[in-house]
Amino acid sequence: MGILSVQKSVREQAVAKAAMALMESHGVAPSPTNFEIFFTYAGGANPPLSRALDAHLKTKKPFTPDVLDELRHHVSKERKTIDQLDTLSKDVSAALGSVLVTLETAGKDAASYGKTLSAAIAEMVGDQSPVAVRKLMDGLLGATQAMEARTKMLEDELHKSSTEVSDLKTKLDDVRKESLTDPLTAIANRKLFDMALDNAIHDANETGEEFALCMCDIDHFKTFNDTWGHQTGDQVLRLVGACLSENVKGRDTAARYGGEEFAVILRQTRLEHALNLANQIRGHVESKKLVKKSTGDILGTITISIGVAQFTPGETTASLIRRADECLYAAKRAGRNCVIGEEDHKTSIAAA
Ligand code: GH3
Ligand code: MG
Ligand code: MG
Repeated sequence: MGILSVQKSVREQAVAKAAMALMESHGVAPSPTNFEIFFTYAGGANPPLSRALDAHLKTKKPFTPDVLDELRHHVSKERKTIDQLDTLSKDVSAALGSVLVTLETAGKDAASYGKTLSAAIAEMVGDQSPVAVRKLMDGLLGATQAMEARTKMLEDELHKSSTEVSDLKTKLDDVRKESLTDPLTAIANRKLFDMALDNAIHDANETGEEFALCMCDIDHFKTFNDTWGHQTGDQVLRLVGACLSENVKGRDTAARYGGEEFAVILRQTRLEHALNLANQIRGHVESKKLVKKSTGDILGTITISIGVAQFTPGETTASLIRRADECLYAAKRAGRNCVIGEEDHKTSIAAA
């Protein structure tokens, strides 16, 4: 066993111990499915599960079968994506393998045809009687026709393989897109947001580009859910997601950050313009008249609060998010349904 695999198994044991300890301290039955949830959580590699489980731990409520069922979805969703990728990568290798076999066969066929031709030339140099030449020609004609048929077959096989490879590429692109999309709102998920923010920070540090980050949160959403039910709440999340993507350009990223929080990365944008755009988004959400699809009930309106920060060259991702979050909290304190930018936030702190 190599050093790396020893380290890996030591880490897995530590993760397993942490998982068991956590289950025991919260009275969770040590069944294999529960263990899988807590093992994945303790490993820390499934952010949606970590967020959901952390949120539940904060409530200090017990892990009921319903709660565990909900958490299990995060684990099985991840497994589904991994399985899909696994199957696709196996299919790609199989398709590429068959292309290689086809090409190898083509090489062998061409070489044997070449040999037939050289043998014919050698014979022509020897016996040149009409009968011998005639025999030779018949032989050559046969070999050329066979090669033609073989080449046609190889061409068809290659065409089939290339179609297969391009179909698989489309599937791979679909799976990739799915793994970066939030299923409920169909906008970017947290993973894509993290990637887009890393890119924006990298580019800003390299080129001096200015960009801003908006953190948005639905106001009094818990009350909305409690009054109208979770499914209607989900409808609102879709609506907010649509308002965000309708108001940003292709180079920007509007994402569901988690729960009822959204984030928007505005590329090539300075604070002042970002504040205008955030206010436009806020107004757009407020202007929607909500109607319950199933009953036609008028649900009134929903509002969002937004905090906006501009990237400071050299700062970390966490620091930028924290600054935008602080502005968001300031917007909540200021009465909600408003936008607070860093400058306003500093002013309001100074005034307090
Ligand atoms: P505030 O104005 O201070 O933001 O109040 P709030 O009620 O929105 O904030 P709080 O953080 O107390 O509640 C957030 C709620 O968002 C809790 C939960 O019911 C709801 N929520 C989070 N994720 C989802 C989801 O996926 N679907 C639905 N329907 N509701 C969600
Ligand atoms: Mg919130
Ligand atoms: Mg909220």
